[in-house]
Amino acid sequence: MSRFFSNKFSGLAPYVPGEQPRGAEYIKLNTNESPFPPSPGAVAAGAKALERLMLYPDPECGALCAAAAETFGVRPEQVICTNGSDEVLSWAFAAFCDGDRPAVFPDVTYGFYPVFAREQGVPYREVPLKDDLTVDIDAFMEAKGTLVIANPNAPTGIALPRDVIEALLRADPARMVVVDEAYVDFGGESVVKLIERYDNLLVTQTFSKSRSMAGARLGLGFAAEPVIRDLNTLRFSVNPYNVNSVTLAAGIGALADPAYTAANCRTVIENRAFAAAELIKLGFELTDSRANFVFARYPGVDGETLYRELKAKGILVRHFARPERISDYLRITVGTRAQMEALLRALAEIINA
Ligand code: PMP
Repeated sequence: MSRFFSNKFSGLAPYVPGEQPRGAEYIKLNTNESPFPPSPGAVAAGAKALERLMLYPDPECGALCAAAAETFGVRPEQVICTNGSDEVLSWAFAAFCDGDRPAVFPDVTYGFYPVFAREQGVPYREVPLKDDLTVDIDAFMEAKGTLVIANPNAPTGIALPRDVIEALLRADPARMVVVDEAYVDFGGESVVKLIERYDNLLVTQTFSKSRSMAGARLGLGFAAEPVIRDLNTLRFSVNPYNVNSVTLAAGIGALADPAYTAANCRTVIENRAFAAAELIKLGFELTDSRANFVFARYPGVDGETLYRELKAKGILVRHFARPERISDYLRITVGTRAQMEALLRALAEIINA
Protein backbone atom coordinates (compact mmCIF):
# COMPACT_ATOMS: atom_id res chain seq x y z
CA MET A 1 0.00 0.00 0.00
CA SER A 2 1.37 3.43 -0.88
CA ARG A 3 1.15 6.24 1.67
CA PHE A 4 -1.37 7.90 -0.66
CA PHE A 5 -4.00 5.15 -0.54
CA SER A 6 -7.22 6.38 1.04
CA ASN A 7 -7.87 5.16 4.58
CA LYS A 8 -11.29 4.03 3.48
CA PHE A 9 -9.67 1.28 1.40
CA SER A 10 -6.82 0.32 3.70
CA GLY A 11 -8.57 -2.86 4.89
CA LEU A 12 -9.96 -3.88 1.50
CA ALA A 13 -9.17 -7.47 0.52
CA PRO A 14 -9.86 -7.65 -3.22
CA TYR A 15 -11.65 -10.48 -5.00
CA VAL A 16 -9.24 -13.13 -6.29
CA PRO A 17 -10.30 -14.29 -9.78
CA GLY A 18 -9.56 -17.85 -10.90
CA GLU A 19 -6.14 -18.40 -12.46
CA GLN A 20 -5.81 -17.40 -16.13
CA PRO A 21 -2.59 -19.21 -17.04
CA ARG A 22 -0.67 -17.87 -20.03
CA GLY A 23 1.68 -20.19 -21.82
CA ALA A 24 1.26 -23.53 -20.08
CA GLU A 25 -1.27 -25.81 -21.72
CA TYR A 26 -3.95 -26.64 -19.18
CA ILE A 27 -7.38 -28.11 -19.52
CA LYS A 28 -9.05 -25.11 -18.02
CA LEU A 29 -12.04 -26.00 -15.85
CA ASN A 30 -11.61 -23.30 -13.21
CA THR A 31 -13.53 -20.17 -14.24
CA ASN A 32 -16.79 -21.44 -15.71
CA GLU A 33 -16.10 -20.21 -19.21
CA SER A 34 -17.78 -21.85 -22.18
CA PRO A 35 -15.69 -24.45 -24.00
CA PHE A 36 -17.26 -23.26 -27.28
CA PRO A 37 -16.40 -20.15 -29.32
CA PRO A 38 -18.91 -17.28 -29.58
CA SER A 39 -21.56 -17.59 -32.29
CA PRO A 40 -20.32 -16.84 -35.82
CA GLY A 41 -22.78 -13.93 -35.95
CA ALA A 42 -21.27 -12.43 -32.80
CA VAL A 43 -17.73 -12.77 -34.15
CA ALA A 44 -18.66 -11.20 -37.52
CA ALA A 45 -20.51 -8.28 -35.90
CA GLY A 46 -17.64 -7.64 -33.49
CA ALA A 47 -15.09 -7.70 -36.32
CA LYS A 48 -17.14 -5.23 -38.35
CA ALA A 49 -17.39 -2.88 -35.37
CA LEU A 50 -13.58 -2.69 -35.22
CA GLU A 51 -13.67 -0.50 -38.33
CA ARG A 52 -15.54 2.22 -36.40
CA LEU A 53 -13.34 2.29 -33.31
CA MET A 54 -12.53 5.97 -33.87
CA LEU A 55 -15.99 6.75 -32.48
CA TYR A 56 -17.18 6.44 -28.89
CA PRO A 57 -19.76 3.72 -28.33
CA ASP A 58 -23.43 4.58 -27.89
CA PRO A 59 -23.65 5.55 -24.19
CA GLU A 60 -27.31 4.49 -24.12
CA CYS A 61 -26.45 1.04 -25.56
CA GLY A 62 -29.75 1.58 -27.41
CA ALA A 63 -29.52 -1.17 -30.03
CA LEU A 64 -28.37 -3.77 -27.50
CA CYS A 65 -31.05 -2.77 -24.95
CA ALA A 66 -33.63 -3.13 -27.73
CA ALA A 67 -32.31 -6.53 -28.80
CA ALA A 68 -32.17 -7.76 -25.20
CA ALA A 69 -35.69 -6.46 -24.53
CA GLU A 70 -36.95 -8.38 -27.56
CA THR A 71 -35.14 -11.57 -26.49
CA PHE A 72 -36.33 -11.44 -22.90
CA GLY A 73 -39.84 -10.10 -23.52
CA VAL A 74 -39.43 -6.81 -21.64
CA ARG A 75 -39.16 -3.13 -22.67
CA PRO A 76 -35.80 -1.48 -23.54
CA GLU A 77 -36.30 0.97 -20.64
CA GLN A 78 -36.23 -2.03 -18.29
CA VAL A 79 -32.70 -3.02 -19.37
CA ILE A 80 -29.19 -1.77 -18.52
CA CYS A 81 -26.03 -3.01 -20.30
CA THR A 82 -22.82 -3.25 -18.30
CA ASN A 83 -19.18 -4.27 -18.44
CA GLY A 84 -19.79 -7.84 -17.32
CA SER A 85 -22.52 -8.54 -14.80
CA ASP A 86 -19.96 -7.77 -12.10
CA GLU A 87 -20.46 -4.10 -12.96
CA VAL A 88 -24.24 -4.05 -12.57
CA LEU A 89 -23.88 -6.07 -9.35
CA SER A 90 -21.34 -3.60 -7.99
CA TRP A 91 -23.68 -0.70 -8.82
CA ALA A 92 -26.57 -2.54 -7.18
CA PHE A 93 -24.62 -2.65 -3.92
CA ALA A 94 -23.88 1.06 -4.27
CA ALA A 95 -27.42 2.02 -5.29
CA PHE A 96 -29.61 -0.14 -3.05
CA CYS A 97 -27.64 -0.73 0.15
CA ASP A 98 -26.83 1.66 2.97
CA GLY A 99 -26.67 1.80 6.77
CA ASP A 100 -30.41 1.09 7.04
CA ARG A 101 -30.41 -1.52 4.29
CA PRO A 102 -27.44 -3.86 4.58
CA ALA A 103 -26.78 -6.35 1.81
CA VAL A 104 -27.90 -9.83 2.85
CA PHE A 105 -26.55 -12.91 1.08
CA PRO A 106 -25.65 -16.53 1.88
CA ASP A 107 -22.32 -17.26 3.60
CA VAL A 108 -21.41 -19.54 0.70
CA THR A 109 -22.06 -17.71 -2.57
CA TYR A 110 -20.29 -15.61 -5.20
CA GLY A 111 -17.12 -14.42 -3.46
CA PHE A 112 -17.38 -10.98 -5.00
CA TYR A 113 -20.47 -9.95 -2.96
CA PRO A 114 -18.63 -9.16 0.28
CA VAL A 115 -15.94 -7.39 -1.73
CA PHE A 116 -18.53 -5.21 -3.50
CA ALA A 117 -20.04 -4.34 -0.11
CA ARG A 118 -16.71 -3.43 1.45
CA GLU A 119 -15.55 -1.46 -1.58
CA GLN A 120 -18.82 0.48 -1.60
CA GLY A 121 -18.62 0.95 2.17
CA VAL A 122 -22.00 -0.65 2.87
CA PRO A 123 -22.73 -3.11 5.68
CA TYR A 124 -23.56 -6.72 4.87
CA ARG A 125 -24.81 -9.82 6.63
CA GLU A 126 -24.11 -13.42 5.63
CA VAL A 127 -26.85 -15.98 6.20
CA PRO A 128 -25.41 -19.50 6.64
CA LEU A 129 -26.46 -22.09 4.10
CA LYS A 130 -28.24 -25.08 5.61
CA ASP A 131 -26.22 -28.24 6.27
CA ASP A 132 -27.20 -29.63 2.86
CA LEU A 133 -25.76 -26.46 1.25
CA THR A 134 -29.20 -25.14 0.23
CA VAL A 135 -30.22 -21.53 0.87
CA ASP A 136 -32.05 -20.98 4.17
CA ILE A 137 -35.19 -19.46 2.70
CA ASP A 138 -36.94 -18.92 6.05
CA ALA A 139 -34.05 -16.73 7.18
CA PHE A 140 -34.21 -14.71 3.95
CA MET A 141 -37.99 -14.30 4.23
CA GLU A 142 -37.49 -12.43 7.49
CA ALA A 143 -34.24 -10.63 6.67
CA LYS A 144 -34.20 -6.84 6.60
CA GLY A 145 -32.03 -5.18 3.97
CA THR A 146 -31.28 -5.77 0.29
CA LEU A 147 -31.23 -9.46 -0.57
CA VAL A 148 -28.62 -10.66 -3.06
CA ILE A 149 -29.19 -14.19 -4.30
CA ALA A 150 -27.28 -16.02 -7.00
CA ASN A 151 -29.72 -18.43 -8.65
CA PRO A 152 -28.36 -21.00 -9.33
CA ASN A 153 -26.03 -20.34 -6.43
CA ALA A 154 -22.26 -20.43 -6.86
CA PRO A 155 -20.23 -22.45 -6.18
CA THR A 156 -22.86 -25.04 -5.20
CA GLY A 157 -24.89 -24.84 -8.44
CA ILE A 158 -28.09 -25.43 -6.45
CA ALA A 159 -31.10 -23.58 -7.87
CA LEU A 160 -34.21 -22.10 -6.25
CA PRO A 161 -37.56 -22.44 -8.01
CA ARG A 162 -39.22 -19.30 -9.38
CA ASP A 163 -42.04 -19.37 -6.82
CA VAL A 164 -39.54 -19.16 -3.94
CA ILE A 165 -38.03 -16.00 -5.42
CA GLU A 166 -41.55 -14.66 -5.90
CA ALA A 167 -42.34 -15.39 -2.24
CA LEU A 168 -39.23 -13.39 -1.23
CA LEU A 169 -40.38 -10.50 -3.41
CA ARG A 170 -43.87 -10.57 -1.89
CA ALA A 171 -42.74 -10.99 1.71
CA ASP A 172 -41.62 -7.36 1.90
CA PRO A 173 -42.25 -5.07 -1.10
CA ALA A 174 -40.12 -2.38 0.58
CA ARG A 175 -37.09 -4.63 0.25
CA MET A 176 -35.00 -4.86 -2.92
CA VAL A 177 -34.16 -8.37 -4.12
CA VAL A 178 -31.22 -8.77 -6.51
CA VAL A 179 -31.21 -12.10 -8.34
CA ASP A 180 -27.92 -12.96 -10.04
CA GLU A 181 -28.78 -15.30 -12.92
CA ALA A 182 -25.23 -15.77 -14.28
CA TYR A 183 -25.83 -19.53 -14.61
CA VAL A 184 -29.57 -19.65 -15.25
CA ASP A 185 -29.32 -20.94 -18.84
CA PHE A 186 -27.99 -24.32 -17.69
CA GLY A 187 -31.16 -25.49 -15.98
CA GLY A 188 -32.41 -22.74 -13.66
CA GLU A 189 -35.71 -20.83 -13.75
CA SER A 190 -35.36 -17.18 -14.72
CA VAL A 191 -37.41 -14.49 -12.98
CA VAL A 192 -36.73 -11.74 -15.56
CA LYS A 193 -40.42 -11.64 -16.49
CA LEU A 194 -41.35 -10.87 -12.88
CA ILE A 195 -39.94 -7.33 -13.22
CA GLU A 196 -43.28 -6.46 -14.78
CA ARG A 197 -45.07 -7.24 -11.50
CA TYR A 198 -42.46 -6.47 -8.84
CA ASP A 199 -40.68 -3.11 -8.69
CA ASN A 200 -38.40 -4.44 -5.93
CA LEU A 201 -36.66 -6.93 -8.25
CA LEU A 202 -33.36 -6.53 -10.11
CA VAL A 203 -32.23 -9.50 -12.21
CA THR A 204 -28.69 -9.70 -13.60
CA GLN A 205 -27.48 -11.91 -16.43
CA THR A 206 -24.21 -12.31 -18.29
CA PHE A 207 -22.86 -13.12 -21.74
CA SER A 208 -19.82 -14.76 -20.13
CA LYS A 209 -21.21 -18.29 -19.77
CA SER A 210 -23.99 -19.51 -22.07
CA ARG A 211 -23.07 -17.01 -24.82
CA SER A 212 -19.32 -17.78 -24.77
CA MET A 213 -18.29 -14.13 -24.44
CA ALA A 214 -16.40 -13.89 -21.12
CA GLY A 215 -13.62 -11.95 -22.84
CA ALA A 216 -16.01 -9.33 -24.19
CA ARG A 217 -17.28 -8.35 -20.72
CA LEU A 218 -21.01 -7.94 -21.17
CA GLY A 219 -23.74 -8.11 -18.57
CA LEU A 220 -27.39 -7.10 -18.41
CA GLY A 221 -29.64 -5.84 -15.63
CA PHE A 222 -33.45 -6.10 -15.80
CA ALA A 223 -35.76 -4.17 -13.50
CA ALA A 224 -38.68 -1.75 -13.36
CA GLU A 225 -37.90 1.54 -15.06
CA PRO A 226 -37.22 3.63 -11.90
CA VAL A 227 -34.68 1.04 -10.74
CA ILE A 228 -32.94 1.06 -14.12
CA ARG A 229 -32.93 4.88 -14.00
CA ASP A 230 -31.17 4.74 -10.60
CA LEU A 231 -28.51 2.42 -12.02
CA ASN A 232 -28.11 4.72 -15.02
CA THR A 233 -27.60 7.65 -12.65
CA LEU A 234 -24.60 5.76 -11.28
CA ARG A 235 -23.47 4.64 -14.74
CA PHE A 236 -23.44 8.19 -16.10
CA SER A 237 -21.65 9.36 -12.96
CA VAL A 238 -18.89 6.78 -13.28
CA ASN A 239 -18.45 5.58 -16.84
CA PRO A 240 -21.05 6.37 -19.54
CA TYR A 241 -19.05 4.38 -22.11
CA ASN A 242 -18.93 1.29 -19.94
CA VAL A 243 -19.60 -1.13 -22.81
CA ASN A 244 -17.25 -0.81 -25.77
CA SER A 245 -18.54 -0.78 -29.34
CA VAL A 246 -17.04 -4.15 -30.33
CA THR A 247 -18.77 -5.81 -27.38
CA LEU A 248 -22.05 -3.99 -28.10
CA ALA A 249 -22.03 -5.29 -31.69
CA ALA A 250 -20.98 -8.81 -30.71
CA GLY A 251 -23.69 -8.90 -28.05
CA ILE A 252 -26.37 -8.05 -30.59
CA GLY A 253 -24.91 -10.73 -32.89
CA ALA A 254 -25.11 -13.30 -30.09
CA LEU A 255 -28.72 -12.45 -29.28
CA ALA A 256 -29.60 -12.86 -32.96
CA ASP A 257 -28.57 -16.53 -32.81
CA PRO A 258 -30.51 -18.06 -29.91
CA ALA A 259 -30.38 -21.53 -31.51
CA TYR A 260 -26.56 -21.55 -31.23
CA THR A 261 -26.70 -20.60 -27.54
CA ALA A 262 -29.42 -23.15 -26.82
CA ALA A 263 -27.50 -25.96 -28.55
CA ASN A 264 -24.36 -25.18 -26.54
CA CYS A 265 -26.34 -25.12 -23.30
CA ARG A 266 -27.88 -28.49 -24.15
CA THR A 267 -24.40 -29.93 -24.75
CA VAL A 268 -23.11 -28.55 -21.45
CA ILE A 269 -26.13 -29.99 -19.62
CA GLU A 270 -25.50 -33.41 -21.24
CA ASN A 271 -21.80 -33.27 -20.38
CA ARG A 272 -22.68 -32.27 -16.82
CA ALA A 273 -24.96 -35.30 -16.48
CA PHE A 274 -22.24 -37.56 -17.90
CA ALA A 275 -19.51 -36.15 -15.64
CA ALA A 276 -21.76 -36.22 -12.55
CA ALA A 277 -22.75 -39.86 -13.10
CA GLU A 278 -19.13 -40.92 -13.64
CA LEU A 279 -17.91 -38.95 -10.61
CA ILE A 280 -20.52 -40.67 -8.45
CA LYS A 281 -19.33 -44.04 -9.77
CA LEU A 282 -15.81 -43.07 -8.66
CA GLY A 283 -17.13 -42.35 -5.15
CA PHE A 284 -17.47 -38.56 -5.29
CA GLU A 285 -20.31 -36.68 -3.57
CA LEU A 286 -21.96 -33.92 -5.58
CA THR A 287 -24.52 -31.19 -5.13
CA ASP A 288 -27.46 -31.02 -7.56
CA SER A 289 -25.89 -28.43 -9.87
CA ARG A 290 -28.00 -26.58 -12.44
CA ALA A 291 -25.00 -24.53 -13.55
CA ASN A 292 -22.13 -25.07 -16.01
CA PHE A 293 -20.02 -26.58 -13.24
CA VAL A 294 -20.21 -29.41 -10.75
CA PHE A 295 -19.35 -29.10 -7.08
CA ALA A 296 -17.81 -32.31 -5.81
CA ARG A 297 -15.83 -33.80 -2.95
CA TYR A 298 -14.17 -37.15 -2.40
CA PRO A 299 -14.60 -38.47 1.14
CA GLY A 300 -11.27 -38.80 2.88
CA VAL A 301 -9.19 -36.65 0.49
CA ASP A 302 -9.03 -32.92 1.10
CA GLY A 303 -9.92 -30.49 -1.67
CA GLU A 304 -6.55 -28.78 -1.69
CA THR A 305 -4.79 -32.10 -2.42
CA LEU A 306 -7.17 -32.96 -5.26
CA TYR A 307 -6.75 -29.48 -6.70
CA ARG A 308 -2.92 -29.68 -6.60
CA GLU A 309 -2.74 -33.18 -8.04
CA LEU A 310 -5.11 -32.28 -10.86
CA LYS A 311 -3.00 -29.21 -11.62
CA ALA A 312 0.13 -31.39 -11.76
CA LYS A 313 -1.69 -33.47 -14.36
CA GLY A 314 -2.50 -30.36 -16.42
CA ILE A 315 -6.10 -29.83 -15.29
CA LEU A 316 -7.13 -26.61 -13.56
CA VAL A 317 -10.20 -26.56 -11.33
CA ARG A 318 -11.30 -24.13 -8.62
CA HIS A 319 -10.73 -24.80 -4.95
CA PHE A 320 -11.92 -22.48 -2.17
CA ALA A 321 -9.98 -22.70 1.08
CA ARG A 322 -12.67 -20.50 2.71
CA PRO A 323 -15.26 -20.86 4.06
CA GLU A 324 -13.97 -24.00 5.71
CA ARG A 325 -17.19 -25.98 5.22
CA ILE A 326 -16.59 -26.04 1.45
CA SER A 327 -12.83 -26.49 1.55
CA ASP A 328 -13.09 -30.18 0.66
CA TYR A 329 -15.01 -29.43 -2.52
CA LEU A 330 -13.80 -28.73 -6.02
CA ARG A 331 -15.76 -26.54 -8.39
CA ILE A 332 -15.24 -28.04 -11.82
CA THR A 333 -16.40 -26.26 -14.97
CA VAL A 334 -18.28 -28.48 -17.39
CA GLY A 335 -16.39 -28.48 -20.67
CA THR A 336 -16.45 -30.67 -23.74
CA ARG A 337 -17.01 -34.43 -23.50
CA ALA A 338 -13.27 -34.95 -24.19
CA GLN A 339 -12.33 -32.56 -21.37
CA MET A 340 -14.68 -34.36 -18.98
CA GLU A 341 -13.16 -37.71 -19.97
CA ALA A 342 -9.65 -36.36 -19.31
CA LEU A 343 -10.78 -35.04 -15.94
CA LEU A 344 -12.33 -38.39 -14.97
CA ARG A 345 -9.20 -40.31 -16.01
CA ALA A 346 -7.01 -37.98 -13.96
CA LEU A 347 -9.25 -38.17 -10.89
CA ALA A 348 -9.41 -41.98 -11.13
CA GLU A 349 -5.59 -42.08 -11.20
CA ILE A 350 -5.34 -39.73 -8.21
CA ILE A 351 -7.76 -41.58 -5.97
CA ASN A 352 -6.51 -45.03 -6.96
CA ALA A 353 -2.82 -44.14 -6.48
N1 PMP B 1 -22.25 -13.86 -10.74
C1 PMP B 1 -21.74 -15.06 -10.48
C2 PMP B 1 -22.45 -15.96 -9.54
C3 PMP B 1 -20.54 -15.45 -11.10
O1 PMP B 1 -20.00 -16.65 -10.82
C4 PMP B 1 -19.90 -14.58 -12.01
C5 PMP B 1 -18.65 -15.01 -12.73
N2 PMP B 1 -17.49 -14.92 -12.03
C6 PMP B 1 -20.48 -13.32 -12.20
C7 PMP B 1 -21.66 -13.01 -11.58
C8 PMP B 1 -19.83 -12.27 -13.05
O2 PMP B 1 -19.68 -12.60 -14.35
P1 PMP B 1 -19.35 -11.53 -15.46
O3 PMP B 1 -18.84 -10.27 -14.80
O4 PMP B 1 -18.35 -12.19 -16.33
O5 PMP B 1 -20.66 -11.27 -16.16
